[in-house]
Amino acid sequence: MDTMRRDIAICTRLLVDVEILEYSGHISSRLPSGDEFLIQPVDDVRSALQPSRLLVVGLDGNVIDGDGTPPSETAIHSEIYKARPDVNSVAHFHHDPTTMFSMVANRPLLPMKNHACRWPDGVPVHPDPSHISTVEQGQELVKTLGDHNALLIRGHGEVVVAESIKALFADIVHFVENARALATALLLGDVMPLSRGDLEKFRATFHREKHANKLWTYYAVTASNKGVVPAEWIE
Ligand SMILES: [Zn+2]
Repeated sequence: MDTMRRDIAICTRLLVDVEILEYSGHISSRLPSGDEFLIQPVDDVRSALQPSRLLVVGLDGNVIDGDGTPPSETAIHSEIYKARPDVNSVAHFHHDPTTMFSMVANRPLLPMKNHACRWPDGVPVHPDPSHISTVEQGQELVKTLGDHNALLIRGHGEVVVAESIKALFADIVHFVENARALATALLLGDVMPLSRGDLEKFRATFHREKHANKLWTYYAVTASNKGVVPAEWIE
């Protein structure tokens, strides 16, 4: 089976299993050609996504291969791939406990845990809560993203970007963990976010690819044992 197709299906099913993704939201991955990517059809059930169903879509948003309609917010993916050659995988999801940090005044999503080293300059909030359904809206979102690796869409959801599907999955898990940690810390008292120096110190000794593989294997094997992912998909 095609590894990229399989990993998008695994990633999508795992994110449903940990209640980050539900009936909506999507994961994509850039194909080696550079100007095409894989993304699921709009209505395919996330928890049962099949690798063979993934669509090949061009950076203009048009389907090149596959049977189905891309998600209405595909411009998030296509516009990020156009603007960020360092990005090979994109996730958009709607996780309320995390989105909450776009809904409260003076409560930015601060880096609390060491893995927040992916977002050392904070997490920008895209001000327009609309669905990103046009190229123009995608371009506006890309402006908000800039060189960051994640953003919140106000009152709507999240976008996380990474260099590979496995790294993306690890980043999403840590992004949500960090938001949960901050929400809990705020209940306990004055929060003490990690400084840029703290995050740099952590990153200097952190083996990102090794960590992403370990985290992926843990979630994939655990999910396979529960029947969430077919055992034959796990290497
Ligand atoms: Zn959305």
